[in-house]
Amino acid sequence: MKNYRPTHECGVFAVFGHPDAAVLTYYGLYALQHRGQESAGIVTAGASNSPFIRHVNMGLVSQVFSQNDLERIKGTRAVGHVRYSTSGSSNLINAQPFVVNTARGQIAIAHNGNLVNAAVLREDLEENGSIFQTSTDSEVILHLLAQPSEPSGVFSALRKVHGAFSLVLMSEREVIGVRDPFGFRPLSIGKIDGAWVLSSETCAFDLIHAEFVREVEPGEVVIIDEKGIRSEWPFKKERSAFCIFEYVYFARPDSIIADINVARVRTEMGRELARLHPVEADVVIPVPDSGNYAALGLAEELGIPYSHAFVRNHYIGRTFLQPSQLIRDFNVRVKLNLIKESVEGKRVIVVDDSIVRGTTARARVVNLREAGAKEVHMRISCPPHKYSCFYGIDFPDPEKLLANQLSLDEIRDYLGCDSIGYLDVPSMVRATGQKQNQFCLACFNSDYPVPVDPNLDKYVLERRGHRPNLLAAEPSSPNLFST
Ligand code: AMP
Repeated sequence: MKNYRPTHECGVFAVFGHPDAAVLTYYGLYALQHRGQESAGIVTAGASNSPFIRHVNMGLVSQVFSQNDLERIKGTRAVGHVRYSTSGSSNLINAQPFVVNTARGQIAIAHNGNLVNAAVLREDLEENGSIFQTSTDSEVILHLLAQPSEPSGVFSALRKVHGAFSLVLMSEREVIGVRDPFGFRPLSIGKIDGAWVLSSETCAFDLIHAEFVREVEPGEVVIIDEKGIRSEWPFKKERSAFCIFEYVYFARPDSIIADINVARVRTEMGRELARLHPVEADVVIPVPDSGNYAALGLAEELGIPYSHAFVRNHYIGRTFLQPSQLIRDFNVRVKLNLIKESVEGKRVIVVDDSIVRGTTARARVVNLREAGAKEVHMRISCPPHKYSCFYGIDFPDPEKLLANQLSLDEIRDYLGCDSIGYLDVPSMVRATGQKQNQFCLACFNSDYPVPVDPNLDKYVLERRGHRPNLLAAEPSSPNLFST
């Protein structure tokens, strides 16, 4: 059943009306690489009704596309995608963008987010004859869009999907951007040489010298064609529920979200953390790169020297090994080394953005103790992660989340540090300059903006158990070949 709802963190990018659409998308995806490293893909098209050309593969953007590939997929319109998924569904067939030929013509789709009702929708579609090629929830959207029976077409199809979706779509004549009515994941509009671009994050606009125009609003559909850009609002108005973890960890620090630079928010989170959990120390060090900005803010606020004592190995590359616990332990050790003299005999504050399973934090404390740190004070620039994310961030089941299993004192003892301090929800929100009710905070407080049915998998499995066999049907179920 896991394959039905693969969690994926992704980046999407699109271009309309530029002779170098493929190259722009390639560089756009380069800038979005942090959002997904397992597969990358681009679909392009030229003039209206010309055939779509698709190139996708497993690997980093730099590995997936050669010069020849980019020349082969030359076009004036493009949609692109980078993907990270959990191991169960990390194969080529699930690499996006997807393309289908439908009664409405060709459609390409790239999706960032996670649907909460994909399993049920898929069951219904399959019972009505749809044949799925992949195990992703994104393909469900494509099948709904392809249904010729939908009277008002695209909008009624989009209204059926629930959860988190920032989409870029390409049809025979248009490029379309869609943001779900809660606005869980980011999506922005830019302009370059008179052409329109859409991107998960604004850092991609900087790279290609595109001008950032504005964000796609929650619930907005932007349709770009030869006549220009226009907006539609097909969804019921919902409260905004932007994923605050984009600010904490996921988005790139040079991106701008809701008019605020992400690095500035992270630095402010560090300042808040210093005020909430002050401690006397000799040096503040980040866990690079995720803790860099928060550590800087915390050090400034406490007036304690900042040191890049952990040195990161940038040449690890990707591993094709399954992310088992053993491999994770190995990975955290190979990634960082400590400059001993920066911490030896000192009282150290070590700052990271988050603790998920605790593997990273525990390894860092061991490193620091081995290097002779006198005291180790762990500071985390978000609240304890206690609950799963169903909207597109890859957190494990709650029983694997350290803060779901242990109290604060137990976490301190498990990590082996002298003290631990997490940011709390009000301070974290304050650092963004926005209001608490604008955010999804479900992984911290279990307040899920879009209801998630915990029995969904069970329900679908039960229904699967009653499916007709292909050749030998059960007496109660209709047979395919005999009446
Ligand atoms: P863990 O070792 O499991 O506690 O993971 C914590 C580390 O992983 C921190 O350094 C975070 O910056 C990073 N991290 C947090 N959330 C995620 C995520 N969803 N995917 C990948 N890395 C993450």
